Amino acid sequence: MPLQIIRQDITKIECDAIVNAANESLLGGGGVDGAIHRAAGPELLEECRTLGGCRTGEAKLTGGYRLPCRYVIHTVGPVWRGGGYGERELLASCYRSSLELAAEHHCESVAFPLISAGAYGYPKDQAIRVAVSVIGEFLMESDMLVYLVVFGRDDFSIGKKLFTDIVCFIDDHYAAAHTDPLEEQRRRTQCYEATMHPCGAAMPPPPAAKARRGVALPHLRRKKKDAALPQASQADAALPDLSDYVGQIDESFSTMLLRKIDERGMTDVQCYKKANIDRKLFSKIRSDVHYKPSKPTVLAFAIALELSLPETLDMLMKAGFTLSHSSKFDLIIEYFIRQGNYDIFEINEALFAFDQSLLGG
Ligand code: ADP
Repeated sequence: MPLQIIRQDITKIECDAIVNAANESLLGGGGVDGAIHRAAGPELLEECRTLGGCRTGEAKLTGGYRLPCRYVIHTVGPVWRGGGYGERELLASCYRSSLELAAEHHCESVAFPLISAGAYGYPKDQAIRVAVSVIGEFLMESDMLVYLVVFGRDDFSIGKKLFTDIVCFIDDHYAAAHTDPLEEQRRRTQCYEATMHPCGAAMPPPPAAKARRGVALPHLRRKKKDAALPQASQADAALPDLSDYVGQIDESFSTMLLRKIDERGMTDVQCYKKANIDRKLFSKIRSDVHYKPSKPTVLAFAIALELSLPETLDMLMKAGFTLSHSSKFDLIIEYFIRQGNYDIFEINEALFAFDQSLLGG
């Protein structure tokens, strides 16, 4: 997954480069800077002395010494002075300059702390938004694995309003699902109906699928097989023989995904980048008609394709999954889809805040 939000000590992360939230002198300080210098050993300070400092918003690179990374990229975040002094642009520039420096040095993986969000006082939720948006933009153009490392539980707080809304949504549905069997039964029936009728009358008809260009793989012929399997209520006698029955197999997840990409007029790259899925995983899915994705992967594509709830359930069903009101993870996804909010990074922020696994590869 190209952007991962993780909770860890950055000095322990094995990757090509870690980023240090330094000060302009580059001669060490407190917080993450102190931790990095302690773990790297005195040679890091020796090299930093040769660099002549670093201006706010810029970045400089040194070796990693005793750290489990090749490089340390030192960047200087802005001190928060209320938001009216160009803090956002300077902070964005820290992330951009560090990523550019990492790319120049052929780094495939980079870990960032939340720059400026400690002693420099940048409000944490805003600092995360800036980080996620600049890293997300960068990853649309480049292939790199980027970790955004949050240290304490307090480091990570999604906007209060969004958080409260999600808590209410979970309380309304999750609690009821666990305390009221009738309610749960009703919901399950609804869920089942939604699953069985993914193209209900209320939904706009999908635009006609465009033929894919230059793809030779046979399964990529996007022919939608709409034939539903016979319903369980039909008498056994009405069933065709087994090979005919199996012959009615519906389109696979892989085929459906590629068809939806075409219907949405997206390119494959746009879709997997938007889904926060890496290129290799997408290639596997594309070349294996029977590929069995994980549930977070299916949902990442559903979000990237901006599928409605019934369409999402349909896509999940292709891979053998559904959404349940007995799972916080599922409720959070459902919440965002119902809101029409398909920002995968915002969804991942929320999942992270609720201690759930994230979407993506
Ligand atoms: P700044 O001066 O840029 O605010 P700080 O080091 O004070 O830098 O804090 C930046 C962020 O790094 C804070 O969110 C803090 O919680 C986090 N942090 C501190 N130590 C570590 C560590 N060892 N690993 C990852 N993050 C850390």
